[in-house]
Amino acid sequence: MTDPDLSTNETPSDSLKPRTDLIDADPEARAKADPIFEGDIDTSKTVVVCGAGGFIGGHLVADLLRQGYDQVRAVDIKPPNQWFQKFPQADNRSLDLREKENCYAALEGADQVYNLAADMGGMGFIENNKALCMLSVRINTHLLMAARDMDIGRYFYSSSACVYNQELQSTADVEPLSEEDAYPALAEDGYGWEKLFSERMCRHFREDFGVTTRVARYHNVYGPFGTYDGGREKAPAALTRKAIEAKLSGDHSITIWGDGTQTRSFMYIDDCVKGTQRIMHSDITEPINLGSDELVTINELVDVIEAAVGVDLEREYDLTKPQGVDGRNSDNTKILQELGWEPPTALRDGMEVTAEWIEEQMHKCHSLNKKSVFSLP
Ligand code: NAD
Repeated sequence: MTDPDLSTNETPSDSLKPRTDLIDADPEARAKADPIFEGDIDTSKTVVVCGAGGFIGGHLVADLLRQGYDQVRAVDIKPPNQWFQKFPQADNRSLDLREKENCYAALEGADQVYNLAADMGGMGFIENNKALCMLSVRINTHLLMAARDMDIGRYFYSSSACVYNQELQSTADVEPLSEEDAYPALAEDGYGWEKLFSERMCRHFREDFGVTTRVARYHNVYGPFGTYDGGREKAPAALTRKAIEAKLSGDHSITIWGDGTQTRSFMYIDDCVKGTQRIMHSDITEPINLGSDELVTINELVDVIEAAVGVDLEREYDLTKPQGVDGRNSDNTKILQELGWEPPTALRDGMEVTAEWIEEQMHKCHSLNKKSVFSLP
């Protein structure tokens, strides 16, 4: 069922450079820019973004406000002073969505719900916090129950490429993962199993209770307004921070987790925000990849970061640190078929603005002698 409020007729991939107006330091200006997602939408609907104090959720709230939605409810467990982005025009609420009654309160009167709330982080975090990652199952379960009981129009769940069978990711020269490769199931331990279970709950709530659910499997997302320090950061932000520290200190050696030959693809945040909304308003009932298919080794990612930061690094490899699967890429056949679109931003273009933004934050915190919200544990 396509969202009756929406019709889009976009053409396939335009490889535009990232827009810098979307990362203006002033939240008012960010929320007034032209929207990333353009569709014939009914802006009188109430939209709830769960996990709105985090990286992707903050960008999504900004884009919903840009489209002119009157009622954007932003929910996160963190206290407001720790949100990555916060907009006074939104209805901002601090709630622990593991608790059932908080989910019912969060969804009251809602028409559309985006569930981006999860206890998560990069490889270092998910390898060492499997139980915590699995406890996010409570968030999606209680939100789905509330969506069913309160007759919510549409429900989006943010799954992950970590649901894919690990045996298919044991070489760097990996075949891109297509949607059916999640089964037979052998997901990433902890975090990946929770995602796989939660996406199946979305399916069964759709089949058995008629909740209109949509599920995207995100492949590594990066960009400004994401965490870059403190233990939850992912490879692009962590390596960028290390490269900037190396440049500023004059000691140009950096440590890379693993041997640097492992491969990944990385999606720029604006592509994630656009794809998420296109999937939400589509007919696509089964989980679908949302990721870039530009495959690079971690060493190649470091090359891109060196150019973006303006430093030549001496690389050391720490084989004792978690490095995840050997290779992972997104097969975009299905999203191209369904939407005639795939994430278009080139890694070097996205990393250029990301590195500039991280360096700015590091300078700001250093000069104010304070810790950044983007580097809290
Ligand atoms: P994030 O950690 O920046 O944001 C998640 C937010 O959820 C945080 O602000 C956190 O405080 C909030 N949260 C956690 N527990 C909560 C609770 N009990 N109640 C309310 N809020 C709670 O992560 P992100 O990068 O923005 O990811 C958003 C979603 O996308 C997550 O579900 C994540 O698993 C998924 N995902 C992200 C990536 C990526 O590369 N960033 C890749 C695959 C999937």
